[in-house]
Amino acid sequence: MPKIGVQDWLAASQSILSGDLYRYSSTAHHLDAFEARFAAAMGAKHALALNSGTSALVCALAAAGVGPGDEVLVPAYTWMATAAAAVMVGAVPVLVDIDESLTIDPADIARKITPHTRAIIPVHMINLPCAMDEIMALAGRHNLFVIEDACQAVGVRYKDKFCGAIGDAGAYSFNAFKNINIGEGGALTTNDERLFVRARNYHDLGAPIRNHDLTSNEPPMIGANMRLTELQGAMLNSQLARLDPMVRELCAKRRIMADALQQAGFRLAPHHTPEHAASLVVIFDTAEEAETFAERSQVMRLLDSSKHVYTNWEAILAKRTFHPKMNPWAWAHREIDYSAESCARSLDILGRSCRVWLGQRYPAPLMRLAAKRLARPL
Ligand SMILES: *Cc1c(COP(=O)(O)O)cnc(C)c1O
Repeated sequence: MPKIGVQDWLAASQSILSGDLYRYSSTAHHLDAFEARFAAAMGAKHALALNSGTSALVCALAAAGVGPGDEVLVPAYTWMATAAAAVMVGAVPVLVDIDESLTIDPADIARKITPHTRAIIPVHMINLPCAMDEIMALAGRHNLFVIEDACQAVGVRYKDKFCGAIGDAGAYSFNAFKNINIGEGGALTTNDERLFVRARNYHDLGAPIRNHDLTSNEPPMIGANMRLTELQGAMLNSQLARLDPMVRELCAKRRIMADALQQAGFRLAPHHTPEHAASLVVIFDTAEEAETFAERSQVMRLLDSSKHVYTNWEAILAKRTFHPKMNPWAWAHREIDYSAESCARSLDILGRSCRVWLGQRYPAPLMRLAAKRLARPL
């Protein structure tokens, strides 16, 4: 996660000097520039800057018209926001197992599809791309929306494309833990003109006063305020320029680590685009081995990553919303199961998997030393 630095400070000060931080003021240009650059960088037609990754998910679901009575497939291993976003538009999340790639298992997606399923949210967790070819094929056969949660994989490749720019829409986060870090922020990308217009409307309350609303035939609908400020736009531009070099550096360090670990006989989790892999997970036969390995520095067992595991999503498990009459589970066509056993296979895999941190701020020679230390026998 990039450190906020002098470049960001300079960019931010430029924006402050303009005397107006409002995105729709006459002098504003940072967010417009960022959206154009980000869309181009991801290979998408449209990008919309938003105040968080959660907002991006909600906005994409709302733009796609997902709502009450709909089921949204989400992986059992993701930040809780993925499941919560479905609830926020009135739909219910349905849990899908992950496989050893640590991403949503296409075979389990196929098992979890019902006549009420409207959308799939594959999540590219910890820079690991999902099996998008298989997911897109399934979605095509069942006529489902695919909204990629690329919040944890900004700038990461799946084959010759970028995570987030493959499905109907992509959601990105720029909070303090992500590949672009402006404290809080997000974006949505899509190639679909109508989806984009509806998302832009939704993120700005459906306000009929903007010029851009005059350019479409979509009637305004009530949304929320998910706008960013020009200050954040300026910082986003400064960070976007550093994104690709940062991801490339992660890939290079991953190769050093992966080589050392594989030579020592450790098994790496399968990766859907190994040639561009920017993160590393070691998988063991037993949870005990994973626990022993996790005691080394620079390693975390994935089962221990708190709210990223569905069994820790307290409010979702309790199906509790702010008002009982605004509770999407009341409108669902069937009882949805979030018991600990519902995705036992995911828990088993997470219990045997360890993420190896790639020491973003270390130089490569130090990385070789760290790799050597990490690759010693259990
Ligand atoms: C961070 C994150 C989000 C939400 O992003 P915010 O900007 O924190 O709202 C959604 N999904 C995943 C997988 C995330 O890691």
